[in-house]
Amino acid sequence: MAQEKKIPYKIYLEESEMPKKWYNVRADMKNKPAPLLNPGTHQPMTAEELGGVFCEELVAQELDNDNAYIDIPQEIQSFYKMYRPAPLVRAYCLEEKLGTPAKIYYKFEGNNTSGSHKLNSAIAQAYYAKKQGLKGVTTETGAGQWGTALSMACSYFDLDCKVYMVKVSYEQKPFRREVMRVYGASVTPSPSMNTEIGKKINAEHPGTTGSLGCAISEAVEDAVKNPGYRYVLGSVLNQVLLHQSVIGLETKAALDKYNIKPDIIIGCAGGGSNLGGLIAPFMGEKLRGEADYRIIAVEPASCPSFTRGKFAYDFADTGMVCPLAKMYTLGSDFIPSANHAGGLRYHGMSPVLSQLYDDGLMEAVSVKQTDVFEAAEQFARVEGILPAPESSHAIRVAIDEALKCKETGEEKTIVFGLTGTGYFDMVAYEKFHEGKMDDYIPTDEELAEYAAKLPQID
Ligand SMILES: *Cc1c(COP(=O)(O)O)cnc(C)c1O
Repeated sequence: MAQEKKIPYKIYLEESEMPKKWYNVRADMKNKPAPLLNPGTHQPMTAEELGGVFCEELVAQELDNDNAYIDIPQEIQSFYKMYRPAPLVRAYCLEEKLGTPAKIYYKFEGNNTSGSHKLNSAIAQAYYAKKQGLKGVTTETGAGQWGTALSMACSYFDLDCKVYMVKVSYEQKPFRREVMRVYGASVTPSPSMNTEIGKKINAEHPGTTGSLGCAISEAVEDAVKNPGYRYVLGSVLNQVLLHQSVIGLETKAALDKYNIKPDIIIGCAGGGSNLGGLIAPFMGEKLRGEADYRIIAVEPASCPSFTRGKFAYDFADTGMVCPLAKMYTLGSDFIPSANHAGGLRYHGMSPVLSQLYDDGLMEAVSVKQTDVFEAAEQFARVEGILPAPESSHAIRVAIDEALKCKETGEEKTIVFGLTGTGYFDMVAYEKFHEGKMDDYIPTDEELAEYAAKLPQID
């Protein structure tokens, strides 16, 4: 008989304990993230310039480096209550299986139709678009989680939603596309013939299956050309990390209920939004000198922005229409090798996390794809959730840290972000089972070639 546990398997918050404000970690950063630059003039983007592409209130949030707390509008709080609070789960079963003295917790964000944390920001962005009286929004999606989340949010607020979906995913993930259409979104494979940049890319690379950078360029062009439309982005930007702070605030509130202090906080990092959100309040304490935590970003070895990229200004998209961002980047032309964690294939990293990493406030590790899927299955077999490949990067490192504790006998407390479920990723699991998954890691020469093409900004 398992002995009675003092800490429940799942720590839930009451509705009344859910966050009413987002936390803006930039307010506590001594070195602020570098400003976005105009791609033509290389001067910091003004609110007015950004307003041509993004919604007004989101521009204000993007540029706000000072206010630590920003009210979550009532309508968004209500929507959050429909699928939140997300449980903080004590992974007792995994601990037992590993035979580790470590205490492992994970924050599970997969409890909504989009299957990921992305809805936390999608609903906020749709709300502000509606408030501004816009007709609709445009965006890109790679693996499809962001497009799905945004479709859900737009249908809730009766906004038109145009999604440019990387062609290879459009063809390989028809079910994702169909979920978006359930919510009334129009989904176009990218590169398309709807935009100048799409036509250009199709002409230069006939038969191309597209890339995230290219889909971004198309979505931006579509928004800028059509009155009443703005572009929205699911990661990387400061505003997205702000909205995602709801993950960390809930996690901290749940831990505080039982006086639990984590030693290590782990998250996967694509553009950095879930990790930025999860760590926000903990990083705030660290920045203010109130507490210390080891914070670890986990990225794929095939797309190693933090661990092998350069900290430099770079284009956010292939078409070079977006503002330049200073971030850890592999170069905007970099296309990672076949990797099944679609959400982690972006060439750059959030400017906020990039600055924190450069300042030595967090660590980063890269992991091989097959090791990730091994961890995913180990987890699935004992914890009752089929994890997304992206999330499984965090699982891999959480297990590795727990196994180190087994060797040393240390009872460390580990918290990781379980960003979503993997039901739309069964092709990836199939490849893994059939031994057809490769672990390609780019060479130094390859990376240097892309790095040499970074824009020169002084
Ligand atoms: C998009 C996505 C990620 C990566 O995005 P971040 O902005 O780095 O958080 C991770 N996990 C899942 C399930 C995703 O859909």
